[in-house]
Amino acid sequence: MSRLVIVSNRVADPRKPAAGGLAVALGESMKKTGALWFGWSGKIVETAAGGVPGEGELHTQKAGNVTLVTVDLCRQDHDAYYLGYSNDVLWPVFHYRLDLGNYEPGFAAGYRRVNELFARKLLPLLKPDDTIWVHDYHLIPLAARLRALGCTNRIGFFLHIPMPPPLIMAAIPQQDWLMRTLFDYDLVGFQSEADLLNFSHYVQSEAQAEVLPDGRYRAFNRTLQAGAFPIGIDVDEFARMADTREGRQMFQRMRKEYSRRQLLVGVDRLDYSKGLPQRIRAFRELLVRYPENLNSATLIQIASPSREDVDAYADIRDEMANLCGAINGDFGELDWMPIRYIHRTVARKRLPGLYRASRVGLVTPLRDGMNLVAKEFIAAQDPADPGVLVLSRFAGAAEQLKEALLVNPYDIERTAQAIQQALQMPLDERRNRHQALLRRIKEQDVHWWCETFLATLQNLEPRAPQCNRVACRVKPMLV
Ligand code: UDP
Repeated sequence: MSRLVIVSNRVADPRKPAAGGLAVALGESMKKTGALWFGWSGKIVETAAGGVPGEGELHTQKAGNVTLVTVDLCRQDHDAYYLGYSNDVLWPVFHYRLDLGNYEPGFAAGYRRVNELFARKLLPLLKPDDTIWVHDYHLIPLAARLRALGCTNRIGFFLHIPMPPPLIMAAIPQQDWLMRTLFDYDLVGFQSEADLLNFSHYVQSEAQAEVLPDGRYRAFNRTLQAGAFPIGIDVDEFARMADTREGRQMFQRMRKEYSRRQLLVGVDRLDYSKGLPQRIRAFRELLVRYPENLNSATLIQIASPSREDVDAYADIRDEMANLCGAINGDFGELDWMPIRYIHRTVARKRLPGLYRASRVGLVTPLRDGMNLVAKEFIAAQDPADPGVLVLSRFAGAAEQLKEALLVNPYDIERTAQAIQQALQMPLDERRNRHQALLRRIKEQDVHWWCETFLATLQNLEPRAPQCNRVACRVKPMLV
């Protein structure tokens, strides 16, 4: 079996439970074959004298049979690649927020430079039969840069965020270049069928791609396989976390504290894609339209801080503080506050108990690649007396989780109605819905995701060398 090489913006020690998401997801596959994980060190070095960007230094660390290799970035590159192009162009546009994009021309050049730097530093570390798996929107052109240096390994790419329709993509000044670079991968994975369809529309209408009889796409003299691989969670690990002493204590504390109340929970990064103000307005509407919830329904909303130095994030932070304060002021009693708003990160190990003690889970993003909180909420429930998931139809997870109460988060009245339906739902119906949802998240858990993607990639024919290094280097990369 070939060695796995993971490339992502950040790397984490897969042995540490706090490593979270991707590290946990990939941990097993990495341990099986031995692996190299490459990414940014998180360190910024100041620009060298004379304003010349410094060359990133490499750091190597062993974590069992996984080698972690990271590279430093100079401030100029970091600002253009990470803050600029990744988070100020690709993140908002891919989440359909053209209004929040900041299309400064210098950002694209920095993004290209860092992808080139990654390719140059990674290439000497590669073995001929390594399978390379590149993650997320920070590194879309990485395969193109590796190919230009002569790399013929199998390379897969997974987009963790949504793929927008062609006319939304069109807002990105370098969209044609970005999409063309995707064709240097052998396999491109998306979170949902809707994302795959958007990609398929784009390449057929904008790049005149041909769809081959086996479903692959042919354009720019290259052939690419694309597919939907919805990412899952480790359901068993989550259940185990719920069963630790800390998990049980959290559950019991919450149940005791809210024994006379109906608890609702929301857990999100404080990001404009998460639909938090709309959710709080829907909760207010619930209190107005269904007054039986006064003195009873209590929403615990955790909003973990994210990119606070960016204006759009500062705006939403202020909006949330004002909305929650106004509701508590208008409806609160001496012994009841409708919203507990926590603007801090809560340790993941404390979440299962909180989810399990809640009658309703609110996951109502305006746009989300997948949303793992939705799946964690389901995994943490007591099957004999489960809570109900209210889920935005704009979360990637909605494609799989049809037995949740699906809502349009922009429609405040009907979202409030759905929350009321969830609060009133009879036990039988709650059990039936939960059973179906639990089955689905177990069938397509994080191990399924990882194995299916890698098996698909490894079954593809390796590509023949297309050109020698020198000839390829001559070709300029247009941005
Ligand atoms: N999370 C956490 N503590 C918090 C908020 C979130 O541990 O205070 C975790 C949450 O359990 C989930 C992840 O962060 O595993 C968020 O993933 P999701 O796909 O829902 O959203 P993202 O932040 O990746 O957009």
